[in-house]
Amino acid sequence: MSRWTLALITVTGFTLAACGSSSTDTAAGAGESADGGVLTVVASFYPLQYAAEQVGGDAVAVTNLTKPGAEPHDLELKPQDVASVADADLVVYLSGFQPAVDEAVASEGGDRAFDVAPAARLDLTGVDEEHAEEEGDEEHAGEEAAGEEVTDPHFWLDPTRLADVGDALAEKLAAADPERADTFTANAAAFRQDLEALDTELAAGLGSCASNDIVTSHQAFGYLAQRYGMTQVGITGLSPEAEPDAATMAEVADFVIENKVATIYYETLVSPAVAETVAAETGAKTAVLDPIEGIGDESAAQDYLGVMRANLAALKAGQPCP
Ligand SMILES: [Zn+2]
Repeated sequence: MSRWTLALITVTGFTLAACGSSSTDTAAGAGESADGGVLTVVASFYPLQYAAEQVGGDAVAVTNLTKPGAEPHDLELKPQDVASVADADLVVYLSGFQPAVDEAVASEGGDRAFDVAPAARLDLTGVDEEHAEEEGDEEHAGEEAAGEEVTDPHFWLDPTRLADVGDALAEKLAAADPERADTFTANAAAFRQDLEALDTELAAGLGSCASNDIVTSHQAFGYLAQRYGMTQVGITGLSPEAEPDAATMAEVADFVIENKVATIYYETLVSPAVAETVAAETGAKTAVLDPIEGIGDESAAQDYLGVMRANLAALKAGQPCP
């Protein structure tokens, strides 16, 4: 009996000590974040999360509203996501890309919301066929009618635009935490250096390809094509889930045959069925070209730079480029 009591006391004592030490750690961490230490940053999808992590470094804790492996275009927010927008020190988003985020930012974001669109210089347009199809749907009210052009949101596939967003993000973080302004500026400069090295690799790798026509299922590569002197031929438009009609499929198939296009690209987060159909009709191959709208188990690498280099390898093999 007494031996049991002693054992119990010993075990209990040990447990309390362990809990005590771990809760002390937690308290220190929480105290830091509550006292101008770590800024809480909510990013609306992966490339913005990546930029915030690179520029913010240890001074920020970044969460992503678009879960890994999910497709960001038609993101729906849960109440706790909207609450995280209300609680964040900074909300980084791209206006016009995710209607649910635009709405949450309008109601909860206040002056802590940072729209990267101006820094990203969104100057390309394309046809958003999915939203055209759903015209009249309440969720997409106010969007362009069928056949009209809308702004292309996929700026991050041009690394130099992502570098510009990084610089703007450093200014925004510095305003939120002036004591760390120099750190954010230095981090953004290092981020730019990485992105410019990638840009140099892409320019060199895609400089003399047999074909400069990139035929993709999801029309996400306009900014990449523009930067490296290529032309994008999209099968489904700016949103990846749209079902192209038979006439569009036939047009693309004719284009592929006439221009001796070797490869039809599809992406990791969406079914390859459309690309496979065109490939089967034309004798072209299919390959993955990742729009980096999320990083998941299917991704070729674990971060933006890695997946962009995988994209470069896919394009060099697919176009092909020497
Ligand atoms: Zn997209």
